[in-house]
Amino acid sequence: MKKNQIIQSFKEIFGGEFRLFSAPGRINIIGEHTDYNEGFVMPAAIDKKIWLAIHPVHGRKASIYSVDYDETSAFDLDGDMSELPHWALYPYGVVKELQKKGCNPGGFKAVFGGDIPDGAGLSSSAAIECVFGTALNSLFDFGLDKLTIAKVGQLAEHNYAGVRCGLMDQFASMHGKAGHVIRLDCRSLDYEYAPLELSGHELILTDTRVKHSLASTEYNHRRAACEEGVRIIASNMPSINSLRDLRPKNVLPYKDILGEETFLCCEFVTEENERVLETVKALESNDLEKVGHLINASHRGLRDKYRVSCPELDLLVETANTVDGVLGSRMMGGGFGGCTITLLKTSSTDKYIKVTQAAFHESFGSEPVYYKVSISNGAGEEMTG
Ligand code: ADP
Ligand code: MG
Repeated sequence: MKKNQIIQSFKEIFGGEFRLFSAPGRINIIGEHTDYNEGFVMPAAIDKKIWLAIHPVHGRKASIYSVDYDETSAFDLDGDMSELPHWALYPYGVVKELQKKGCNPGGFKAVFGGDIPDGAGLSSSAAIECVFGTALNSLFDFGLDKLTIAKVGQLAEHNYAGVRCGLMDQFASMHGKAGHVIRLDCRSLDYEYAPLELSGHELILTDTRVKHSLASTEYNHRRAACEEGVRIIASNMPSINSLRDLRPKNVLPYKDILGEETFLCCEFVTEENERVLETVKALESNDLEKVGHLINASHRGLRDKYRVSCPELDLLVETANTVDGVLGSRMMGGGFGGCTITLLKTSSTDKYIKVTQAAFHESFGSEPVYYKVSISNGAGEEMTG
């Protein structure tokens, strides 16, 4: 088990006492690219995690061993980030963002690793930020709440990993609750837990195992297009601050002024927000067929309007919908690779895997990977050793 491997590595490399923390990855039922537009999302934390064994040391040095990269990185808490391997930018970024808040972690030694496939759209990066944020908060008694730690993680992602993400991933990793989805309003940050009861159905993740290199650049471009759209529309409608304030019908009159690309981005976000609200209602009335339709519509929007899909994801979604018992399927996460999420009858799962595997192999010569996840609790301390 991965958790034991992390503990074992800590014992071998550093020895002595440690505390063990974990933070999960997340799925998102619907509401993609809406978080940084102050919209609605419906994520849940999953039973794939990053574990971190950690202990404070005297001095100003952080020494971190990554089990999965089999690599150690050490940095001065007051030093700069040149020379750090990519994975170390996340803990480094968390330390820096804590310092900006006036929270000054002391030196520490740490070992971490996990079983969240990276770059699959399950937010391994947010899990790393949240596990370090949670651990440093506890070790050094900063007294920060979950939301503040999530925001520290988001800023680490913006300022050190260079992705201008919304808050959903970190929020879900911090606030997850077993068996429940989180209905989050990314403007007010009000949230509610809703039990996910899928009676005879399940969610399956299908990982294309591709991540096209444009992913983070295009992510930032889409975000910029949304901001540009808001700026233009706000010059006529001063009361609006974000796409959250608009319905699709409010965006339509600006089609020509916005230009095709920006218009489609804005239209997608306003439609996706409506789909999240409709999904809330459909789940409340146990109308899973409807949820499936909304999930399919979300994919079409991500593919044709927001343009963040890719051939591998499209093929999986298209093939999924040829299988009896599949209610809906869509790409999940930032896009350009990673996973699809599919709602289907439990009795159809074997068929779904067989059919999509064959179609994927025929087109791309490789096999997707399937994950059945269960919905789990958010970040926290697991044990002391
Ligand atoms: P994701 O969708 O999984 O968040 P990102 O590209 O945002 O994808 O983050 C992936 C990066 O996070 C990797 O390139 C690596 O730097 C880091 N990472 C993810 N998982 C691990 C791990 N188990 N150990 C070390 N670093 C990891
Ligand atoms: Mg990420």
